[in-house]
Amino acid sequence: MTRAILIGLPGSGKDTVGSILSEDTGIPLISLGDLLRSYLKGKWRKALDRGDFIPDEIIYRILTKKTSGLKSYILNGFPRKLNQAENLERLGGIDEVFFLDITVRESIKRLSNRYVCPSCDFVSKKDGLCGNCGDKLTKRKDDAPEVVKKRIKLYKKETIPVLEFYRERKKLFTIKGRNSMAIAKKIEKIIKENTKIKRRSR
Ligand SMILES: [Zn+2]
Repeated sequence: MTRAILIGLPGSGKDTVGSILSEDTGIPLISLGDLLRSYLKGKWRKALDRGDFIPDEIIYRILTKKTSGLKSYILNGFPRKLNQAENLERLGGIDEVFFLDITVRESIKRLSNRYVCPSCDFVSKKDGLCGNCGDKLTKRKDDAPEVVKKRIKLYKKETIPVLEFYRERKKLFTIKGRNSMAIAKKIEKIIKENTKIKRRSR
């Protein structure tokens, strides 16, 4: 049983790393951004596209629906705020938190070179046609430069206390590097070791 979190600046590779991890380990990946993009409509969808935070009660409703009955999962994009981390701890808690550590400069650079497929969510560093289904690639609305700056500012204010929260509880693992595959392997190793320790202590 592993309940893990991926956390990091926008563009830190959480989506790619999460997909690799999920594929290698069979643990379901729950990506809050994707979940919200598929569930939200109207004014909250607009708020999401502007890079604003979505109210907690909406997030919990969607998240609970998705995680109920799951013993293991990898959460991507949540918690973002201290009170969300505290609530998650009360609901049974998280085993490991993986912080994908990149600089703000790197974050801005990566997001300005990110193109996504509107049909199949394929991500590319170059504009053009989707390498997966051939559709025309687009930029995500929340990757626009002024929105990115806002996301980074919000991230720093809200997420740094979350990192501290998990560091105090010895659940935080800081992972550096640029190669998503290598990052995923490092995380897999930690999850495996921790699972062994958990089994032994039972
Ligand atoms: Zn596509």
